[in-house]
Amino acid sequence: MNIHEYQGKEILRQYGVSVPNGRVAFSPEEAVKVAKELSTSVVVVKAQIHAGGRGKAGGVKIAKNLDEVRSYSKELLGKVLVTHQTGPEGKEVKRLYIEEGSDIKKEYYLGFVVDRATSRITLMGSEEGGMDIEEVAEATPEKIFKEIVDPAIGLTGFQARRLAFNMNIPDKLINKAASLMLGIYKAFTEKDASILEINPLVVTGDGNVVALDAKFNFDGNALYRHKDIVELRDFEEEDPKEIEASKYDLSYISLDGSIGCMVNGAGLAMATMDTISYYGGSPANFLDVGGGATAEKVTEAFKIILSDTSVKGIFVNIFGGIMKCDIIAEGVITAAKEVGLNVPLVVRLEGTNVELGKALLNESGINIVTADSMADGARKIVELVG
Ligand code: ADP
Ligand code: MG
Repeated sequence: MNIHEYQGKEILRQYGVSVPNGRVAFSPEEAVKVAKELSTSVVVVKAQIHAGGRGKAGGVKIAKNLDEVRSYSKELLGKVLVTHQTGPEGKEVKRLYIEEGSDIKKEYYLGFVVDRATSRITLMGSEEGGMDIEEVAEATPEKIFKEIVDPAIGLTGFQARRLAFNMNIPDKLINKAASLMLGIYKAFTEKDASILEINPLVVTGDGNVVALDAKFNFDGNALYRHKDIVELRDFEEEDPKEIEASKYDLSYISLDGSIGCMVNGAGLAMATMDTISYYGGSPANFLDVGGGATAEKVTEAFKIILSDTSVKGIFVNIFGGIMKCDIIAEGVITAAKEVGLNVPLVVRLEGTNVELGKALLNESGINIVTADSMADGARKIVELVG
């Protein structure tokens, strides 16, 4: 789960991490009010969307007086911001963060991730901040330094200082940077974050080390024990179909192709998408109904796929293990009858109760193309979609 920059900074503030003063605003009037209260000579108006690259896309404005705060806020609110992370359709700005301007001496990069290769929290730091870290990794990988945290000990002061030193943070600010990293580490572990990017971390003219941006991502599997984080969820930033799916505990991911896929199990989902691509098609989504789904859940899953106007055909590919094929068939039939099926449907069923499932589909009167294998099904749906 993602949150906004201003929410991320609020969490960091609670852990004693130095961030500029600021508050969220939903209208130009509120923005001006916040700016007045900040009473600093320079105020930054920042678009709050769940995507990075706002700076380059014109979503971060430096205002020198209240009139500028008002006009920048008017300009940004309601604007569709297209950044390299939003995709071409962009994201509409509905909230602003009004923050005190920092006197930036230099920008650095600091990232915390859970590294799958080592199964450990890993810090990444670089003196090449403010820009895409992917570009730095590509062009000058030697400028990215890592510290791998031993979970039994936690991040040590020594590691934090070594990273700050490698990042070329000025000598007399190494300890400040290290204590900031330790504070972030505490926030990261206590809140079960999976990614936190501070890009940029800055050194200021008055000799402070400040987190100027904060991009948090939280582990969905740990959200049950973080009610405070769940409350920060901004549904307007998420795909409505993904929200609908999460209500029924379904894993649903929107993609940009034309074939809707209903499968059980993430591994089978990956294989299905690969096979569709192999035959020249492209998946519109990834919908995993999981193991023990009920017919109602399968019905909702199928409705979600049908509600997507970019879906030009559906491929149901199920291996019945814990999941039974007749339950899938029931769900598909109910949904197709309730919503109406106006695109081709290819079904491949295998495993527990497969004969029963096939019989239900055959007797349903719905126009279904059956497939004998995953390859056969993928080929058929790609052909039908054209
Ligand atoms: P994004 O990563 O989405 O582009 P950032 O929060 O990193 O957004 O802001 C982009 C750039 O804007 C930063 O690299 C920094 O140069 C500038 N900036 C952001 N916040 C402030 C601030 N409070 N004071 C001064 N400059 C800022
Ligand atoms: Mg940034």
